[in-house]
Amino acid sequence: LRGRMGMKSAGRSWQRKTVRENRGIDVMETKRVYIKDTENVRDEELKEAALVIRRGGLVAFPTETVYGLGGNALDEDAAGKIYAAKGRPSDNPLIAHVSCAAEVEPLVKYMPESGRKLMEKFWPGPLTLIFPKSSRVPYGTTGGLDTVAVRMPSDPIANRLIALAGVPIAAPSANTSGRPSPTTADHVWQDMNGRIDMVIDGGAVGIGVESTIVDVSGETPAVLRPGAVTMEMLREVLGEVTIDPAILGPVAEGVHPKAPGMKYKHYAPKAELTLVEPEMGDKKAGMTKAQIDRMVDMVKMLAKEQIQAGQRVGIICTDESRDAYHEGIIRSIGARQSQESVAHNLYAVLREFDDLGAEVIFSESFGEDHLGQAIMNRLSKAAGYRIVRV
Ligand code: AMP
Ligand code: MG
Repeated sequence: LRGRMGMKSAGRSWQRKTVRENRGIDVMETKRVYIKDTENVRDEELKEAALVIRRGGLVAFPTETVYGLGGNALDEDAAGKIYAAKGRPSDNPLIAHVSCAAEVEPLVKYMPESGRKLMEKFWPGPLTLIFPKSSRVPYGTTGGLDTVAVRMPSDPIANRLIALAGVPIAAPSANTSGRPSPTTADHVWQDMNGRIDMVIDGGAVGIGVESTIVDVSGETPAVLRPGAVTMEMLREVLGEVTIDPAILGPVAEGVHPKAPGMKYKHYAPKAELTLVEPEMGDKKAGMTKAQIDRMVDMVKMLAKEQIQAGQRVGIICTDESRDAYHEGIIRSIGARQSQESVAHNLYAVLREFDDLGAEVIFSESFGEDHLGQAIMNRLSKAAGYRIVRV
C-alpha cells in the first residue's frame, strides 16, 4: 500500500521513462507475492492482498482460467482503475467474482431458474453467468448495463482471496487490452508492472482460456463466449441454449454483440496471424488424416512464401505434426489428441511469438467440438478472422 504517493517521489529519470510507457496513468511500485504451495494456500499469504482490495487498490491473481486483475466490484473508483490499468474501453463490463453461491444474492435483482441450475452443476468453475443486476452493483462495473456478470472460481488462491477481501472482486483478464490473456504471473508482470499494487504469483493456470459466459437474464439461456464449460455440457443441463452470433464469426457493422467485449479485436499477437483450415462438412466432427495433411501442406507453403519474401515467420503446429515442418519459428501449441493441452498453451504461444519478434504467423486450426469451440473462437479472433480454407 505504499503505492502511488511513495513512488511519485522516486528517482526522476526512472519516473519520466516509465510514465511515458504507462500512457499517462500514475506509476506505482508493484509488489510480487509468491505462493509457496498453491494447493494449500495459507490466509497469512493473502492477507495483505485482501487489504489492498478492501482499500480500493488492484491485485492480479491466478484463477483456473487465466490471471485476473482484481478490484472491489462494488467500488466504482476501483473499477475505473482497472479500466485505466488495462487501457480497456469503459463500455466493456467486468465480471464480479464471488467465493460462494450465497454471495450472489445481493448482486442480482432475482435468480432465474436456469441460473440456479447452472450454479449447482458447474460452480465453482469456469462458468460466468449474466443476471439482472441489483442496485448494489455500480454501473461503473457493468459498463452501464442493467445486468451483472458473476463467477465463482475454483482456484484455491482466487477463492480464498475473495473470501478474505469480504467483497466481490471485479476481475477481467490481467493483460493490457487487446494483448493475449495472461496464463502465468510473468505474463501479468510484462503488462502490469508499475500499474497495479500487487501480483500474486501462483504459477501457471490450469485451463488457459477465459470462462464460458452464459446469459440467463433473458427467456432462453444464451452462450456469449465459449469456454471450458462446453456447449455439450450446457445442453445436458438446460436442454435449449442459443449461441450468440458474435461467437461464430466477425461482428458485422452496426451489430452489437451481447457481450460487449466480443466486438473488440482480442487476444491478438503483434504479428499478423492467419489460420489455415481444411474444408469440413461438419466442424464438430474430428478432422480426417487427409484433411490434416492438406492443412499442413498449405501452412508450409504459405510460410515458405513469406520466408522467401524476407519475413520473420512463425508456425503454430501440434505435437503430432511438429516433424513435418523444417523452416520458420516452429512452436507446437499442444497435442491435437488433447484439446486441454491446446487451450492451456494457446496464449503463452502467442506471447512467445511477440517476444521472438515474429512478423507473420500461420497456424493450423482445430475441430469445433467440445473445448475446440473455445480454442477456435480465440484463435479466429486473434487472427482477425483471416482464415485460408483448403
Ligand atoms: P474478461 O473480463 O477479459 O474475461 O472479459 C469479460 C467479458 O464478459 C467481456 O467480453 C464482457 O463483454 C463480458 N461481460 C461482462 N459483463 C457482462 C454483461 N453484464 N453482459 C454481457 N457481457 C458481459
Ligand atoms: Mg480479457
